[in-house]
Amino acid sequence: MIERADAVVIGGGIIGASVAHFLTKLGYGRVALVEKSEICGGSTQYSAAHIRQHYSNEVAIRLAVRGAAMFANAEEELGGPVGFVQDGYMVIAPPEQEQAIRDVVPVQRRFGVETEILTPQEVSHRWPELDVEGIALACFERTSGYADPVATVRALVRSAQQRGLELLEGCEATAIEIERGRVGGVVTSQGTIATGVVVNAGGPWGDRIGRMVGVDHPLRFSREHEAVFEAPDGFGEIPVMSDAAQRLYFRHYGEGKVLVGEGWPKEPEPADPENYDAGTDEEHLARMVPKLVRRVPSLAATIGGEGYGGAYVTGYSGVYDITEDWYPIVGEEEVGGYYSAFGGSGHCFKLGPAIGEALASVIAGEAPEIDLSDLSGARFAAGRTFGSVWGPGNRA
Ligand SMILES: Cc1cc2nc3c(=O)[nH]c(=O)nc-3n(C[C@H](O)[C@H](O)[C@H](O)COP(=O)(O)OP(=O)(O)OC[C@H]3O[C@@H](n4cnc5c(N)ncnc54)[C@H](O)[C@@H]3O)c2cc1C
Repeated sequence: MIERADAVVIGGGIIGASVAHFLTKLGYGRVALVEKSEICGGSTQYSAAHIRQHYSNEVAIRLAVRGAAMFANAEEELGGPVGFVQDGYMVIAPPEQEQAIRDVVPVQRRFGVETEILTPQEVSHRWPELDVEGIALACFERTSGYADPVATVRALVRSAQQRGLELLEGCEATAIEIERGRVGGVVTSQGTIATGVVVNAGGPWGDRIGRMVGVDHPLRFSREHEAVFEAPDGFGEIPVMSDAAQRLYFRHYGEGKVLVGEGWPKEPEPADPENYDAGTDEEHLARMVPKLVRRVPSLAATIGGEGYGGAYVTGYSGVYDITEDWYPIVGEEEVGGYYSAFGGSGHCFKLGPAIGEALASVIAGEAPEIDLSDLSGARFAAGRTFGSVWGPGNRA
C-alpha cells in the first residue's frame, strides 16, 4: 500500500481508467487508482458500449468525435485491443422527430462528424434486413460502432500500469481529508494515501463520494436491461441502431448474435447500485422482442415463437447514474484539488476516454484540446444545463 501519490483516482470504470491512463501518459508523477471491487466491476461492465457521435451540443460532439478516433486507433490511443467493431451507427426517426435529424446533422458536420441523412428508401436499399415502416428519416455515421467495455478498461489500466500506475483493487475510499480548503489525502480500507489531487470517478457512487468533501451533486438511478439472442444463419450486416420510433436499440453482438435494449424517454426503474438484481426478466424481454422482430423480420426465424425459439443467450441489467440534465459532471470543484468525473447518465462509455484525456490535461495544468468547462458542476447553480433536440430524457 502506497502512502503518498500525486493523484488518486477513485473508481476503476471507463472514466477512472481513462483519467488514470492519460495522467500516466502525461508523466504526471505517481498516480494511484483505487477500486473497491475490481477494475470494471461497476456499471461499465454492463454497457452496450455503442460508440456514436450523434449529439446536439459542441462539447459532447467534440468528445464523441475524439472518442471514435481513439477507439479506431485503440492500440496506440487506449493501450491495447478494445474489440472495436466499426459497423456504423444509424438513428431512424418517425415523422414527429424528423426535424431533430434535420436540425442536428449540420451541427454535427460542423464539428467533424461524418454523417449523412438518408431517406427510408435509401435505408432499405443499403440494409434490406431492416423494415422501415413508420420511419420518416434516418442519419448514418460510418465511423461509429461498438466496443468491448471490459477489454477497453483492461487495456487502459494495464498499459497505465506499465507506466507506473498503482492499481489498488478491493480498496474502498471511505473518506477524503481536507487541509485548508484543499484535499490532503484519501482514507481507504487499506490505509491513507496522502495526495493533493483526488478524482471522483465513482460512477453511480459518485454522489456519495462527493459528499465526503461536502460537494453534493445528486444522482437518480435507473436499472437498464439488455438481452442477447441468436440470429439466423446468414443474418446480414446492420449498423448499431437507434430506433427512435420504437425507443429501442440493437446491434450485432459478436458473430451471429444480436443485442437489444430499450431506449429513452421512459419511466426510470429505481435501483440501488449497491444492491440490485443484475439479471433481467420476462417483462422486459416480452416488451423488447416484438419490437425487434418488427424492425428486423428475419430474426423471427430464431426468436419468433414459444420461449423465444430457444434463441435467448443471456440477459442482464446495469444501473444508469443520472444527473439533473443527463450530462456528466466533470471538473474541479470548490474544494481545491478535488475533481468530479461521474454522472455518465447512460451515455458515457464512448465519451470516457476523451473525458479522461481532457481532464488529465486540466489536472496537469495544460490546456486541454477539448474545453470541458460546459460540463462543470457549477452549471446547475448557474442555470447552464444541457438539453437535447430530441426532447427531455434524451441524451443526444
Ligand atoms: C445497460 C447499460 C448500457 C449502456 N450503454 C451505453 C452505450 O451504448 N454507449 C455509451 O456510451 N454508454 C453506455 N452506457 C453508459 C456507460 O456505460 C456509463 O456511463 C459508464 O460506463 C460509466 O462509467 P464510470 O466509470 O462513470 O462508472 P463505473 O463503471 O460504475 O465505475 C465506477 C467505479 O467506482 C468504484 N467505486 C465506487 N465507489 C468507490 C469507493 N468508495 N472506493 C473505490 N471505488 C469505488 C465502483 O466499484 C466502480 O467500479 C450504458 C450503461 C448501462 C448500464
